[in-house]
Amino acid sequence: MKFYNTLTRRVEEFVPREPGKVKMYTCGPTVYNFAHIGNLRTYLMEDVLEKTLRYIGYDVTRVMNITDIGHLSSDADSGEDKMLLGAKREHKTVLELAKFYTDAFFRDCEALHIKRPDVVQPATGCVEDFIRVIEALVEKGYAYKAGGNVYFDTSKVENYHKFFNFREEDLEVGVREGVDEDANKRNKNDFVLWFTKSKFEDQALKWDSPWGVGYPGWHIECSCIAMKYLGEYVDIHCGGIDNVFPHHTNEIAQSEAYLGHEWCRYWFHVLHLNTAGGKMSKSSGGFLTLKKLEEEGRTPMEYRFFCLLSHWRNSLVYSEDTFANAANAFRKLKSRCLAIPAEGEVDAAAAARWQQPFRAALEDDLNTSQAITCLYDMLKDKELNGATKRAVIEDYDRVLSLGLLEEEAKEEVSGIDAEEIERQIAARAAAKKAKNYAEADRIRAELAAKGVTLIDTPAGTTYKIG
Ligand code: AMP
Ligand code: ZN
Repeated sequence: MKFYNTLTRRVEEFVPREPGKVKMYTCGPTVYNFAHIGNLRTYLMEDVLEKTLRYIGYDVTRVMNITDIGHLSSDADSGEDKMLLGAKREHKTVLELAKFYTDAFFRDCEALHIKRPDVVQPATGCVEDFIRVIEALVEKGYAYKAGGNVYFDTSKVENYHKFFNFREEDLEVGVREGVDEDANKRNKNDFVLWFTKSKFEDQALKWDSPWGVGYPGWHIECSCIAMKYLGEYVDIHCGGIDNVFPHHTNEIAQSEAYLGHEWCRYWFHVLHLNTAGGKMSKSSGGFLTLKKLEEEGRTPMEYRFFCLLSHWRNSLVYSEDTFANAANAFRKLKSRCLAIPAEGEVDAAAAARWQQPFRAALEDDLNTSQAITCLYDMLKDKELNGATKRAVIEDYDRVLSLGLLEEEAKEEVSGIDAEEIERQIAARAAAKKAKNYAEADRIRAELAAKGVTLIDTPAGTTYKIG
């Protein structure tokens, strides 16, 4: 298996420390709002990475944190506390807010067939671990107290900027705008490990510590949670590209200072989903959620397919048109798969032959669109009987997780399958083109009677069931 490693700036052969076993860490969501479909792209591609590793035969242990404390609106420890702001906005306690959005996040993951990591750990459950590690960092001379807070001293580490392919000024765009520099910091990049002097008088969650009552900074949680469950070494650490600096840079600095050795060899960063107007972000408010897509008649599987069509190392631009194209292609693909009769005996040798190009595509820097091309090629293979095709689809779906052979329960109830709906949509479009609006309306009404609501968009007609 080869994939691009942000640390070395190369596509590299992946070699875990322990043969056959992979320890994987994922930065989880900050639970102050719904995840937007950009965040979900990152989790979705990390899911594909995990499933590919399992497909190849690795035994994977994956850990994810839930950030329910300490993440300020700037990743560089300034601005407002995201959780406090959210709690105020929604008249909830911080813990209620965290629970609400954590549940919403996992509902989205489930709908997108994103496997739940083996360990999911909210930061508020590990404060003792954070304090222990911060104490050790203070003792070793890597951390200092100033103005009531404890800071990590970035000048004490030899090579702070591990991800040297990124220019600091590029990564900091928008991070510090309009925000005062913290005068307590000895060096510009120093970051808070423990806050006691909070500017938020109403900070809801506080813990006692050797430095006074307060709460942890954001970066320390991932290092500690990873060490708690995965030990001193992580094989692959994942996140979105914006995590490279300062979050992951700081995670490396503090973890390696604490451990005294290299911590994680492979860093997997997914590029962003953007809209034509720019980056999608939770704090900007104007973002698309999975729920919103569903209200527009889209399905989570269409979104999964849309993401799999492009490479995780390219930014992906979301537009109604590009999404509608992918969604239509997905529906056709799925009907095609479902229409395959389960005839004959599975030809194991032929199925194994078709595993090769699929696996090769994924092993080559997780080339998901190539893997999907392989699926289309396999469907065209005239030598394969139905039972074998179905077996290969199921095998591919261990990684793609598109539910290609899952019958839609609702469609059965309405007594109409996806292919038939597509045919009716095409007939209605033809009727409209011929200005036969009565016929177009009749088709719409007939479908509505079967529980299928047509939705006209600039990119064509889609539908929703129920
Ligand atoms: P957050 O909940 O804000 O901490 O973000 C959760 C994850 O989504 C992180 O791994 C981010 O790097 C990632 N992320 C944030 N914005 C985007 C975006 N527009 N596209 C893809 N991933 C994103
Ligand atoms: Zn993290």
